[in-house]
Amino acid sequence: MSACELCKSRKPFLRRPKTGQKICQECFFHVFETEIHNTIKTAKLFHRGERVAIGASGGKDSTVLGYVLMTLNQRYNYGVEFVLLSVDEGIKGYRDDSLETVKRNKVQYSMPLEIVSYVELYDGWSMDNIVAQIGNKNNCTYCGVFRRQALDRGAQKLGIRHVVTGHNADDMAETILMNLLRGDTARLDRCTEIITQSADSLVKRSKPLKYAYEKEIVLYAHYKKLDYFSTECTYSPEAFRGTARALIKNLETVRPSAIVDIIRSGETFVLSRRRKGTKELKMGTCERCGYISSNRICKACVLLEGLNAGRAAVQVDSAEPLDSGNAAMHKRLEHLSF
Ligand code: SF4
Ligand code: ZN
Repeated sequence: MSACELCKSRKPFLRRPKTGQKICQECFFHVFETEIHNTIKTAKLFHRGERVAIGASGGKDSTVLGYVLMTLNQRYNYGVEFVLLSVDEGIKGYRDDSLETVKRNKVQYSMPLEIVSYVELYDGWSMDNIVAQIGNKNNCTYCGVFRRQALDRGAQKLGIRHVVTGHNADDMAETILMNLLRGDTARLDRCTEIITQSADSLVKRSKPLKYAYEKEIVLYAHYKKLDYFSTECTYSPEAFRGTARALIKNLETVRPSAIVDIIRSGETFVLSRRRKGTKELKMGTCERCGYISSNRICKACVLLEGLNAGRAAVQVDSAEPLDSGNAAMHKRLEHLSF
């Protein structure tokens, strides 16, 4: 009888999606957590005494992120204080239910929870109202701009300057491919970075799950019996991302390392053509809402103006990859077989 390829003693339990190795459950938990710890250490993501907000949607990515960070913080004594930060977009049957999950995670992980809502921040507009007005075509653009600012405002309210999000390796590979396919080299230049900070923000973002495969996140959540919410948003996500995702899933079946290979290519590509005359953005404040903005009027206020005036589509020139803020939210839970 064969033994686990890592510990060479216990019975193999699964074939690891990232490497194809047959390993036992204990070794799977251990490699999965240790790789995230290594990502954190290599990128020097945290410092002792830091307060960090975990962008928590109740979905599998952020639930696993919260659980693993809690575990690693204890195991390696990071000395970090974690807080859960959720955004209520106002989507009935989706966000209201997933927020219930986050409220349970708050108790399970013994972390404080702060919830910020679109309705409170944006003149009473919930996503349900926005979609009723503009239809469900550009909804994710609005949602992305609003969420980005909402997370920032929530963090600032807590006096926190660092938000970690549950973006995983699949999200990152999708974003790289999308930027490549669109010829968007400016975004391609930034999208592989593990720590980002936009000109419109005092809060930095980071992605500790950058190298974690979605399939492994699902397995981890499943076998650890974590409490997460797996329904998709009622409003359809971006079609282009769906196409990039399908492409990557196809590649993954013939070459499991494709996801991490795309990320590595993206990182190397960035380095070899870095910073050719990047424009320095000046930080100021929005004339309408007073929030930090590199433009006279911030992106959220531009969109709000359109909504309040009853107009539908307003073109927003986004300096940030909108999709990177959304991807973790619209995952579908895959049924996995080995
Ligand atoms: Fe917002 Fe995501 Fe739903 Fe789009 S799919 S409306 S970005 S929650
Ligand atoms: Zn083992």
